Parts: sequence; structure tokens; C-alpha cells
Amino acid sequence: MTEMVRKITLSRAVRTMQDLFPEEYNFYPQSWILPEEFPLFVAEVRMMKESDPPWKPTFIVKPDGGCQGDGIYLIKDPSDIRLAGNLQSRPVVVQEYISKPLLIDKLKFDIRLYVLLKSLEPLEIYIAKDGLSRFCTEPYREPTLKNLHQVFMHLTNYSLNIHSGNFIHSDNVNTGSKRTFSSVLYRLSSKGVDIKKLWSDIISLVIKTVLALTPELKVYYQSDIPAGKPGPTCFQILGFDILLMKNLKPVLLEVNANPSMRIEHEQELSPGVFENVPSPVDEEIKVAVIRDTLRLMDPHKKKRKDNQSQLSENSSDTKDDLLEPGSTDQLEHDISKNPEASLPSLCLKQVFPKYAKQFNYLRLVDRMAALFIRFLGVKGTMKLGPTGFRTFIR
Ligand code: ADP
Repeated sequence: MTEMVRKITLSRAVRTMQDLFPEEYNFYPQSWILPEEFPLFVAEVRMMKESDPPWKPTFIVKPDGGCQGDGIYLIKDPSDIRLAGNLQSRPVVVQEYISKPLLIDKLKFDIRLYVLLKSLEPLEIYIAKDGLSRFCTEPYREPTLKNLHQVFMHLTNYSLNIHSGNFIHSDNVNTGSKRTFSSVLYRLSSKGVDIKKLWSDIISLVIKTVLALTPELKVYYQSDIPAGKPGPTCFQILGFDILLMKNLKPVLLEVNANPSMRIEHEQELSPGVFENVPSPVDEEIKVAVIRDTLRLMDPHKKKRKDNQSQLSENSSDTKDDLLEPGSTDQLEHDISKNPEASLPSLCLKQVFPKYAKQFNYLRLVDRMAALFIRFLGVKGTMKLGPTGFRTFIR
């Protein structure tokens, strides 16, 4: 998974889907992988500028495998890239910079949502009902040559903005430089924004992104886990970073395979003296994600459910209720048999297979992966890996 969500691998996987389904995958900014696509980048930008002379683009350059804003910079022209670093040693992804983000209190912000990939086969995806919104610490202005370098204005990374003198730690989840996403939604809804539509766009972005990642992920699996032998039961909590455009369209920035689960932050008591203090915003969101992941993955639960279904005539209802948030009421009758009944309702909401019907037509590469694994993945004793798979789908 770590390999799949690296900036270059993710861009490649999304591009495969963009080639097949351009309309459906327009939530990812146009991207180029450098150095190999540098000539293509220059040519495409020149062409777009010629066909639309007033277009004054900005691009964001991100080192592959980087995180926390490390090594990221903005440029106005492809020629600026050569001056800025040694491309041969560190490949990068260059992206169209979204220059009109939605602002709150004049500040740019992004959304961190937690997604549980519960199982690959069959595919099961859950999304946490609340996430974090991370705010910049300097009022946003559209990029110009003069402000391109101002990271506190353009990059929403917590790890960067924490060092700005303007970062506001707040015990209230509705204020400060890190808030709950639900508090942002509340603000937006009071301004008349259609929150239901926004959530459904976000869910669809998450499902489509996972559908872009899983085919190659399955190929990685089969080359690591011997066919026919029982493999480990794996799951993964992913951190999705999403930006809202001014017109409320969600844009995927990146996916993290090891999202930070810290529920504390450092506070500088006196110059150079730091202390870890609890962060209520992080705690509210992250504890629920971990708790519910454990509830959903609990291997004893299946046993309990099997036992219950033998006893109960309405076993299928019981099964659905367990997966649906807000259903603890119905479980209260059986607290002793089901310890979950005493826990808060689930913050993780199942979105796949729940909405599978709408998205199954996008699973073309997934079906290619099944063929590849069945017929080509194992050649004699030699296994073909992800590179062989990419050639196969091409
Ligand atoms: P990292 O893994 O280093 O955090 P990201 O891809 O998340 O890299 O980018 C860092 C930050 O830069 C994001 O949180 C966001 O604020 C900003 N950013 C990234 N890509 C874009 C883009 N295409 N348009 C506008 N802002 C972006």
C-alpha cells in the first residue's frame, strides 16, 4: 500500500483511469511525472497557452515519496523547474496548482478524511463520518511571482504551519488552525451550501480513487502471498487529503498509507522547551477511527454473528444493523451476548459495496487484474509483478 500511494504510483494509477474514464476521474489535477515526462510537460503547457493566451497557470512540484510539504515548491513556467533541483536524483510529480480554493476566514484549508479498506476481496470500503480541516496561517492570495514562496499561504500542511507565529491551537473543535470537518460543514451549510451533495461528491472521489489503486495492489499481493495458500487478513486505514475548490468541487491531493494517529501536539513552553499536550480535535476524530476499525475487524465478531444467526430467524437484518451507523438501539436487547451494544454508534460508514452498483462499470482494470493473476501472474515458477501488469493493461 505504501508503494501504491507514493505520488508517482498514485498519479500513474489515476491516469490509467483518466484515460479510460476522463469525466469520472476529473477530480485529480493534471499531473506529469518528471524527469521522464518533462518534454511532454513543456509541450502540453505550450499548447494549452497557445490555445488560451490569457491562461496564466501555476504548477506545484512535489518530490516522489515526500511528505509534510517536504521539498514542495510552486512555479509559473516549466522552465523554472530545471533551475530548482536535481531531477535525476529525485523524481517529482508536477501538478496543475488549484489557484481558486474555497476559503474560510480568508484562509486556504484542506480536509483529512480517514478511510478504512476493510478487505480487498471482496472490496469493502468505510469512510469516517468526520475528519480534520487543516488551515493555512496567512490569508490566501492567488499565486503571483511575488507570493509563490509563501508556504503559510499556499500549503496547508500542519507540520509547516505549526511553525508560523500565527498557528492557533484551540481546545474548541470549531476554531483554530485545525478543526473538525463537521464544523466546517456546519459553517458552509449556514451559508446555504448543499452539504449532502458535497458529501456524496467526496464519497464518490474516495471510491473511485480506491478503484484506481486496488488492481495493482492485488498484483502486489499475489506476488507476495503464494496462490491457494491462506494469506493474512489485512486491512488498512488510509488518510485522504482533499481540497475544496471555490465552486465546492472536491479535488484529491494525495493518499497517505500511514496517516498520523497522534492525539497530542507539541507546545513551546519557553524558548526551546517543548511539552506534549493533548489535542482535543485530534482525539475526537482519531480515537473514533481506531476504535471502530477494531470493532469492524474483530475476528470474534464474525463468530458471534454466526452463532447469533443460527439462533435468530432474522439473521440478515442483524447483520446489516451491525454495519449501519446509529443502530446501537436495536442491539441493546443483547448487551451480554454483544459487548458492542454499549459502545457509541459507528463513526465509520460503509460506502462499498453499499454503492457498488453505481461504480461497478469502472472496475475494468480490476477485471484485467483478475485475468492477469489467473493466467499470467504466475509463469511457471516465475511470478510477474506490477511492472508486468502495467505492460499487460497497456
Ligand atoms: P505532502 O505529502 O508533502 O503533504 P501534498 O500533496 O499533500 O504533499 O501537498 C502539500 C500541500 O500542498 C497540500 O496540503 C495542499 O495544501 C497543497 N497542494 C498540493 N497539491 C496542490 C494542488 N494541486 N493545488 C493546490 N494546492 C496543492
